[in-house]
Amino acid sequence: MNKRVAVIGSGIGGLGAAGLFAKKGYEVTVLEKNANFGGRANVFEHEGFRFDMGPSWYLAPDLFEHYFNLVGEEISDHLELARLEPSYRIFFKGEKENIDIHSNIETDSATFDAIEPGSGNNLKKYLKQSEYQYNVATQHFMYKNYDSVFDFFNKRVMTEGQKLSVFSKMHKFVSKFFKTRKLQQIMEYTMVFLGTSPYEAPALYNLMSHMDFNQGVFYPQGGFYALIEALVAIAEKNGAEVRNNAEVAEIVVENGRTTGVRLTGGEFVSADLVISNADMWFTETKLLDKSSRTYSERYWRKKIMAPSAFILYLGIKEKIPSLIHHNLLFSKDWRKNFDDIYKDPCLPAEPSLYVCAPSVTDADTAPDGKENLFVLVPIASGLSITEDEKESYADKILDLIADEMRIPGLREKVEYQRIYTVDNFASDYHSFRGSALGLAHNLWQTAIFRPKNHSKKVENLFYVGAGTNPGIGTQICLISAELVYKRVHGITSAAPLESL
Ligand SMILES: Cc1cc2nc3c(=O)[nH]c(=O)nc-3n(C[C@H](O)[C@H](O)[C@H](O)COP(=O)(O)OP(=O)(O)OC[C@H]3O[C@@H](n4cnc5c(N)ncnc54)[C@H](O)[C@@H]3O)c2cc1C
Repeated sequence: MNKRVAVIGSGIGGLGAAGLFAKKGYEVTVLEKNANFGGRANVFEHEGFRFDMGPSWYLAPDLFEHYFNLVGEEISDHLELARLEPSYRIFFKGEKENIDIHSNIETDSATFDAIEPGSGNNLKKYLKQSEYQYNVATQHFMYKNYDSVFDFFNKRVMTEGQKLSVFSKMHKFVSKFFKTRKLQQIMEYTMVFLGTSPYEAPALYNLMSHMDFNQGVFYPQGGFYALIEALVAIAEKNGAEVRNNAEVAEIVVENGRTTGVRLTGGEFVSADLVISNADMWFTETKLLDKSSRTYSERYWRKKIMAPSAFILYLGIKEKIPSLIHHNLLFSKDWRKNFDDIYKDPCLPAEPSLYVCAPSVTDADTAPDGKENLFVLVPIASGLSITEDEKESYADKILDLIADEMRIPGLREKVEYQRIYTVDNFASDYHSFRGSALGLAHNLWQTAIFRPKNHSKKVENLFYVGAGTNPGIGTQICLISAELVYKRVHGITSAAPLESL
């Protein structure tokens, strides 16, 4: 091929693109500013505890498998996937009883019936719809590059729009099936994965329930970082050079065309194609001069960012019997939760939150007899939090978890604590407003309305990752890599590629 590709950033989108282009025969160099690869799917260790810093839900295994097959690999040669059973546990604030979701239609319907008589049948109908939606999305929408509004509002959307729930809101849609708050919360919590709220998300995202209820929840043994190691290995096996501690300071543009990138130390890496996996706001406003920008500062100011997160990485002195691998706590006032994030940004007084205990499944993530906990509270992006506020909020969260997840004396059991939040996301990943996830997925930031994966001003400059199409999520960023590949090779099909 003899064409050189420089990929800025080794997030999942960047590594995914590196693998595809290297496999096709391009000369690929990945330039990552951090010491670790993987971007937000980062990892760190502390005295026998190994913390996956970002993603922990391995959903939609078929989408990962598709990527591995495309680069000529068997996923089972790289990842040992454990299906979690139960899939996750839900605690409801102020209530003694928790429930488990098993991703087994009969068991889960019975659980629903016990909360709201008759809702088990509705769950079955709902999941049929989300399966349909998932199949249409993955075969006709997600793997397509949109160039004009007519690409999206095509015959299928116009005739089936109602059935595909493109135009209604998630909460309204869910409310037609389930009347009780608890069941609505269960069907809506995945909107947080997309960085949006059920009151804003288009109802087509009910396809998320196909992932957790029908397909099940998985864990790659060794942790999520095993996926990053696999992606690096595949890119390198195909000849890519994957460099860490290599921060790009500038995308060099000559006569409207990029010729490569310049690193902070002054080194020039020449390239025929540049694919940026860095946050799109950062790429556009910090790596390009004004005349080369497709999206102005004003454009970004008007965008709605996905939440940031208040995260605690905790080393716990002993095992915690009340927790399974994935645990969710839902607050009573769901709408206020989302308002605290999107309308009146503040550290939520009564947050919903997530606790991951990977050491329940994977003994290697904590020393013997101890537990590894990852606590995530979604909070507004752009929030400024002092060091004192961080400490006192961490205590508050620990007390809340102790009460609601039945772990008496939790604070005293903590032997290691690291707080990670808005300013860390901003400095570690150049994330706009310190968002954990990037651009939110409301209707006006989805598909045709999401920033495109190529520059309109600079020839041969492309974008990959959560900021462009299809959007947020580990497997979704692998799709974004495929979309760049399609774009560069002029492939306009809507279906996933069968070969490179
Ligand atoms: C806390 C958290 C939990 C999550 N949970 C899940 C989950 O359970 N399941 C799931 O599927 N998804 C989850 N996600 C989302 C998922 O992790 C992301 O959508 C995905 O990893 C983003 O990948 P990306 O390709 O956009 O790259 P990013 O991860 O954004 O990486 C971009 C890379 O570019 C680098 N970079 C930036 N600027 C430069 C520069 N100038 N020079 C060189 N390099 C640069 C950065 O250092 C970074 O490594 C979670 C995310 C977070 C933060």
